[in-house]
Amino acid sequence: MNTSSKTSNSFIARLSRDFPDLKFQKGEQEHWSPRTNTITYNPNQPLRDLRYGVLHELAHARLNHTTYGSDFELLKMESLAWSEAARIGRRYNVRVSSNHIQNCLDTYRDWLHRRSTCPTCGAHSLQKDAHRYQCLNCQAVWRVTSGRFVRPYRRTHNLT
Ligand SMILES: [Zn+2]
Ligand SMILES: [Zn+2]
Repeated sequence: MNTSSKTSNSFIARLSRDFPDLKFQKGEQEHWSPRTNTITYNPNQPLRDLRYGVLHELAHARLNHTTYGSDFELLKMESLAWSEAARIGRRYNVRVSSNHIQNCLDTYRDWLHRRSTCPTCGAHSLQKDAHRYQCLNCQAVWRVTSGRFVRPYRRTHNLT
């Protein structure tokens, strides 16, 4: 076991002690499941990113983020989760960089922008409900899959 995975294991162990009502498990994609009270984290990434990711999912858990009615609400929750992640991080001497936060939120903004662009005329439009957008320009309606609390990194600055 290398030094980095030892350090990440002790970070997770500390969080498990401090938040005994939550489960922490290894997986592919970072994720918070309100149904099973489980935080999934990807152990195969740099320690810094692992800590940020776990703190972020922990923040969703602490803020009782379960569902949201629109993409905009999701973006708001993402923003709140990062503030909370930064706050919790201070207790563990983890300083979540505001640059990282902005990158993650930009990813969501890009995603939201793509979803809200009318496939027929390209106008920017408003969300009708959790699954549909309607264009104010040409009245086209299109369905979107429900958003998720995931962090789809921008391809342009993908971290390895
Ligand atoms: Zn349109
Ligand atoms: Zn999130």
